Amino acid sequence: MKALAVFPSSREVRLIDHPEPAIARPTEVKLRILDAGICGTDREITLFQYGTPPVNSPHLIIGHEALSMTPATPLSCEAESRALSR
Ligand SMILES: [Zn+2]
Repeated sequence: MKALAVFPSSREVRLIDHPEPAIARPTEVKLRILDAGICGTDREITLFQYGTPPVNSPHLIIGHEALSMTPATPLSCEAESRALSR
């Protein structure tokens, strides 16, 4: 998948190929992103005002505000959602 990545050490912003995230726990779901936004925080990160990549990564990915839908919800997530709404 494509992602917009910020490399603070070389002061670069690039479109990169990034591995698709994997579901690690039964309570996680994948979202189908319909649209993504770039907000003021992302703008400041691309201007290298702040932003630290995750451990063992040279870059951080921006675009944390998205419109999405869940194509499928595991039963464990439905059960947890019902439990939280009580
Ligand atoms: Zn934001």
